Amino acid sequence: MTAVDERPGTRPRPDVEPGRLFIGGRWTETEARFDAVDPATGRTLTSLARGTAADVDAAVAAARQAAPGWAATPARERARVLHRVADLVRSRADELAALESADVGKPISLCRAVDVETVAEQYEYYSALAQGLDGATRPVPIPAHAYTRREPLGVVAAITPFNFPLVLSASKIAPALAAGNTVVHKPAEDTSLSALLMAGLLAEAGVPDGVLNVVTGFGSEIGDTLLSHPGVDKIAFTGSTAVGRHAAALAGRHLKPVTLELGGNAAHIVFEDADVEQAVGAAIKAFVFNTGQFCMGGPRLLVAGALYDTILAALAEAVPQVPVGDPFDLATVVGPMAGERHRAKVEQYVEQARADGGRIVAGGGRPDIEGGFFFQPTVIADLPDDSRVIREEIFGPVLTVQRFTSEDEAVALANSTPYGLAAGLRTTNLARAHRVAARLQAGIVWVNDWAMLDPAIPFGGVKDSGYGREHGPESLDAYTRTKSVVISLA
Ligand code: NAD
Repeated sequence: MTAVDERPGTRPRPDVEPGRLFIGGRWTETEARFDAVDPATGRTLTSLARGTAADVDAAVAAARQAAPGWAATPARERARVLHRVADLVRSRADELAALESADVGKPISLCRAVDVETVAEQYEYYSALAQGLDGATRPVPIPAHAYTRREPLGVVAAITPFNFPLVLSASKIAPALAAGNTVVHKPAEDTSLSALLMAGLLAEAGVPDGVLNVVTGFGSEIGDTLLSHPGVDKIAFTGSTAVGRHAAALAGRHLKPVTLELGGNAAHIVFEDADVEQAVGAAIKAFVFNTGQFCMGGPRLLVAGALYDTILAALAEAVPQVPVGDPFDLATVVGPMAGERHRAKVEQYVEQARADGGRIVAGGGRPDIEGGFFFQPTVIADLPDDSRVIREEIFGPVLTVQRFTSEDEAVALANSTPYGLAAGLRTTNLARAHRVAARLQAGIVWVNDWAMLDPAIPFGGVKDSGYGREHGPESLDAYTRTKSVVISLA
């Protein structure tokens, strides 16, 4: 972070231009438009192009036309272009952070330090991997020389959710382009602005026309056209489990490869030998980060019986002190939820918790902040283990706390929801750390910290959290196919 970020105070909001589609390297107007809303005020920020099926057709056609040229571009040149993207992201970090903050309601300090920097790192990382994407020679007992080639798939439909627009689009676009694919990106309707800024920035970095196309609009209106389009070779979807199932069904019908990064409901287990102060700090960070709109957040805290009362008391004291407010204020830790409908969903779950006998230990309602879609960080104890509030994904700043009496019970509770994206545990017992990490049904397990992520560390789901892995070299598997070439030596 720069010195500027560290000074207290409120940053100016950006002026935001109306959005357009980016197809074949050109900006395109649409007749129909919809509003982008500032979640901190509820006011309209700007308008966005409401893409149609015809726009999707045009974007896929542009991506198809560009595909052979980009696939044939030497990997080293593709890598140079991706590295320039990383440099441009860093040089325009303030602008990107301000736009993301205004659009999503994320605290600007986090946008700069987490979202924008992660995007730069993703492009750097896949720039490096692009150059090492090679095949293998296979010794065989037949008179042949056999080797494999890693080939791009063609046109990738990249569909992303509202909560981490910059990061999650880069998670798809950087490896897809590194491997020589072209992309049609459909960002979430709630938070599309940074996708448009990034499209211009990729073009400036030298990404050729048609290699990246961005179509904004509603998933319910253009999603199916994109998912079932004959010109699309691969679907990379991140979003809810419900829409992910639909995407998988359409992918199955058209036999398109698909990767699905879906919902989560992670358990964070605190064993009796854990450091209480650190556990409380980490538990709060895990559930308030990004206002709880984090697929890999920690909304379920499982606490050893011996620590249960101590930890609840510490949460009751600390959680109300978490600064909630204007995302452009550098002191803010929790901004508004990204939209009215997201807050309404959280309010329904908190109401359900009260009906199920839950005890509200902290928060439980809207803070005293005018305008915007704010909700207090909320802690709920004493719910029955089978409450919907525990089993389902709330996707807001809400923490449920459950008690366990044995390691087996902790693992059973952690694995008891349909989701399996992330999990975490706190212990000073090394053997237990390995043992429990192996038993947790999740794509990533953190021990003694939360949300340690890096472009080199793969993540993804099991069970209803989806399949496929993003980040790491594993991500490139989803954007390449292996071809074997066997040359007779007879
Ligand atoms: P969502 O499923 O409502 O929307 C995701 C995307 O799908 C959006 O771009 C939307 O426009 C599009 N869409 C909607 N209907 C479609 C259709 N019929 N065809 C094609 N696309 C369609 O999800 P959301 O509310 O934007 O995001 C929140 C969800 O995403 C949560 O469940 C969260 O856990 C999940 N998520 C998962 C990860 C992960 O890495 N596993 C990361 C972030 C968010």
